[in-house]
Amino acid sequence: METQGPSRRALFRGQLISKPIAVIGETCLAEAGIVCRSCGDVCPEIAIRFRPRIGLSPQAIVNAAACTGCGDCVGACPGDAITLGAAQSGAAS
Ligand code: SF4
Ligand code: SF4
Repeated sequence: METQGPSRRALFRGQLISKPIAVIGETCLAEAGIVCRSCGDVCPEIAIRFRPRIGLSPQAIVNAAACTGCGDCVGACPGDAITLGAAQSGAAS
């Protein structure tokens, strides 16, 4: 008997194929007014960009499509702000 795979609709929604990506939390030093680009410097995929903000330090943004979940940025973050997890709505794609 033939086994049924996931429905096309589920695949398109990304419900059944998910990869962990870098997620930046509130302890990012930029939120404390400190300029930091350590995560971007170590990322081999150039998946983290820094969005300029008036009056604030540039905000680190993960490009969910480019991030491979390698974890290099996790250990490089001086604020222990990065975890690997599901993409959040604020992540760039
Ligand atoms: S390395 Fe950590 S503290 Fe520095 S910008 Fe990236 S997430 Fe923020
Ligand atoms: S997990 Fe790897 S690919 Fe993703 S942002 Fe961090 S260093 Fe870059």
